[in-house]
Amino acid sequence: MARDPKTLCTLCNTPLTIKHLFTSCPRYSLTLNRFNLPPNLSQLLSDSSPHLTNLFPFLRLHNLLPQI
Ligand SMILES: [Zn+2]
Repeated sequence: MARDPKTLCTLCNTPLTIKHLFTSCPRYSLTLNRFNLPPNLSQLLSDSSPHLTNLFPFLRLHNLLPQI
């Protein structure tokens, strides 16, 4: 994903980075809410984050795992 600058968000036409996906993309914000994931990378990915168990179902739902 972040390693391939040619991968663009189909909605925003900007590089599809982890940061874009979790903090600024309207396409994913609804699902982030549904999975109770915070739009904040440091909260989301911290070692003690309680959100990691919801992170993978979210990525799988959007078929993002193969792109990471
Ligand atoms: Zn986007």
